[in-house]
Amino acid sequence: MSAAQRPFDPACIFCRIVAGDAPASVVYLDEAVTAFMDIQPINPGHLLIVPNAHATYLAELDEGVGWHMFGVAQRLAAAVRRSGLRCEGINLFLADGPPEQVVLHVHLHVIPRYTGDGFDFVFPEHYGQKPPEDLEAAAASIRRALGQA
Ligand SMILES: [Zn+2]
Repeated sequence: MSAAQRPFDPACIFCRIVAGDAPASVVYLDEAVTAFMDIQPINPGHLLIVPNAHATYLAELDEGVGWHMFGVAQRLAAAVRRSGLRCEGINLFLADGPPEQVVLHVHLHVIPRYTGDGFDFVFPEHYGQKPPEDLEAAAASIRRALGQA
């Protein structure tokens, strides 16, 4: 898809970065995706990978672009490990819509991690192992949504 045909939202900061209309420290770009430094890094080396075409939700993407985002994440994670930046591990995080998606343009975080870096998930009070019937009910709902029930 050429730049002229690509879905573009002028109010979207990631669209503007992809178009070169807003500053960013870009580390990788190709026909489908662009990767740049998060301006509020959890740790040094924290990257975002975005599709070049504006899409809010993962399901709006061409499936090949979704695969490609994760393929690029695999390569960038390896590069972060070789970069000399502090990195004992990598977390990939993709928020597919609110509440965690702050910019409503799909983006995959590549987050270098090290012991004691202070970043963590906070689990709700209802977190814990669930009975098999609850798991099966959730699985059945998802299978129905897939059309496999
Ligand atoms: Zn956008």
